[in-house]
Amino acid sequence: MKNITILGATGSIGVSTLDVVVLHRNKFSVFALTAHSQVERLYTQCLQFQPVYAVMVDEQSAQKLKEKLARHGADTIVLSGVEGLTEVAAHNDVDYVMAAIVGAAGLLPTLAAVKRGKRILLANKEALVMSGQIFMDAVQEYGAELLPVDSEHNAIFQSMPENFCGGLVSQGIKQIILTASGGPFRDTPLESLITVTPEQACAHPNWAMGKKISVDSATMMNKGLEVIEACWLFNASVEQICVAMHPQSIIHSMVEYDDGSILSQMGQPDMRTPIAHALAWPERIESGVASLDLFEMSQLEFKRPDMKRFPCLQLAYDAMHTGGTQTAILNAANEVAVDAFLHETIGFTDISRIVEKVLVSATHHPASSLEIVLEDDQQARRLAAEYVKIMTSTSQRRAK
Ligand code: NAD
Ligand code: MG
Repeated sequence: MKNITILGATGSIGVSTLDVVVLHRNKFSVFALTAHSQVERLYTQCLQFQPVYAVMVDEQSAQKLKEKLARHGADTIVLSGVEGLTEVAAHNDVDYVMAAIVGAAGLLPTLAAVKRGKRILLANKEALVMSGQIFMDAVQEYGAELLPVDSEHNAIFQSMPENFCGGLVSQGIKQIILTASGGPFRDTPLESLITVTPEQACAHPNWAMGKKISVDSATMMNKGLEVIEACWLFNASVEQICVAMHPQSIIHSMVEYDDGSILSQMGQPDMRTPIAHALAWPERIESGVASLDLFEMSQLEFKRPDMKRFPCLQLAYDAMHTGGTQTAILNAANEVAVDAFLHETIGFTDISRIVEKVLVSATHHPASSLEIVLEDDQQARRLAAEYVKIMTSTSQRRAK
């Protein structure tokens, strides 16, 4: 029996994780569930899974949850704040931690779990994008087990040689091919992108996901973050990662070997597959996902991404080339810009403009400590907020 903490239990990945866990109550026990402020959803999950702990980052929400659970006579202990997250991620009784908080907020609790040598099921790519070297060094030092949940990285992991270690070249690997659906705007006329709405950006053709990653998929910043994530997970250089547009989202990524073989993992676009894989590894368990009907599939297409349409992808490649805290700066600027877009303060095409401006104007440093990474994250957020303000007032003036 493995005890699991799910960080970000009320989100898209959190809910899918519980969907898999419920099929295997004899293998996995839910130790802790966490959320930011969705009281109702966490309350329902607590009643169903009876975790030892529930954490709500927001104090008032934690109080509400505590009262609701007490009224019901449930004995789940409710904690709050970032300290609560860290406590349940690093707790002695925990075996596995699903890292499924969205954005930079996931970094500290996930690192706390790494430093206690847990099995980390990593969905929160932003943690690795921000602190790659520090994060991977901690995985080594504390003997944590890092299993990728992001569908592409899980597919790469499955297509890699067993006991992969060292670099790609020593393993006879030529390159990693990350597949990308291209999101909802892959065929939208370029001039129409200025006026697309958050609702349109969040309507992904193949995957149902949280809002932030949906917008990231529409700009393809998500793929850029995944290029960086792949570099750290598989000890690869950016030149060894190629992105291929594959609108069907059936092949989840590929590994090309020196002898010309390309190994890939395919399946339905459903996160329960990589989640079940990471939970059970090296075994296999039922995920609840329907079989892929090969005879129903008419075609599998691949195209090169158009960097004019998706400037965020190029910005991510460039940031990884620059190295140091530049990827933390990229991530922070993107988080601020996406949030402003979701609040309809800026337009869709302003997202890449803001990220680019911040990358040019921020000062990056060698990522030699977590403090430096977090300082540059804050620096980028301040700059991005200023650019958001400038762009908002310009577009208001234009509207008048
Ligand atoms: P989501 O928005 O659906 O859920 C986010 C979760 O994090 C919620 O439980 C929320 O309460 C919690 N949260 C939000 N802000 C927080 C904060 N400041 N502090 C603590 N908790 C906070 O997001 P999602 O789609 O489930 O994505 C989660 C992570 O997984 C992201 O990093 C995303 O890139 C990655 N991921 C998601 C998918 C997917 O299919 N959804 C696929 C691959 C990777
Ligand atoms: Mg992905």
